[in-house]
Amino acid sequence: MAGILAAFDAFSARHQAAQAAVVREELDATAPEMPRGDRDRFVGIEVDREREFLRKARARMDADLPIALRIVDPVAREDAVTRLLDREERFVAQRDQAVAERAAGHAEYWLTRQESPAGAYWLLSDEVIEHDAECLAMGGKVWPWGVLDAFHPPVHTGCQCMLVPIDAARQAGLIRGDAFVPAGRAGEASLGLNRPASTRLRRDGLPVELPR
Ligand SMILES: [Zn+2]
Repeated sequence: MAGILAAFDAFSARHQAAQAAVVREELDATAPEMPRGDRDRFVGIEVDREREFLRKARARMDADLPIALRIVDPVAREDAVTRLLDREERFVAQRDQAVAERAAGHAEYWLTRQESPAGAYWLLSDEVIEHDAECLAMGGKVWPWGVLDAFHPPVHTGCQCMLVPIDAARQAGLIRGDAFVPAGRAGEASLGLNRPASTRLRRDGLPVELPR
């Protein structure tokens, strides 16, 4: 058991370093003029999330591995351990996909912010059949950066929402009269900060703290 867990921990350490590099490379490729401070902040966000993901993965291993290893029949035991490791490998692959999407999202967010300092229009993708509640709450409106800094696409895996510069959205005829969400209290109210915590905006199941 100790050997399997040691191998798992070694994998985790390598994966964490490799993933920080993936995020950095994506930001460098998509937004090469991004200042170092912003880039490091985005990398830091993803490294923190990765640490939390690996902590949970290790907790699953700690809970499930002893059960698998208690199986007396050696073939069944090996099967159970393999299934466990396969499961974790699948989670890692899903996560890698999500991190790649989020790194691209961070770069897009930053580029749009440079181009459209007054805010951006949150566009719901036509290709998504059923949007999450968070995306529906944000979609079809122009948000100030104070809000988008804390909460921008992708909100969840497969979220294809996009931020569109205000001018481009106006030219495309996307902005209706009520689309602008002002900074300050009105914006907070429409984001649900006045609602109970359980119904506030969530990203990957975790509550999002918006600036007040
Ligand atoms: Zn979305």
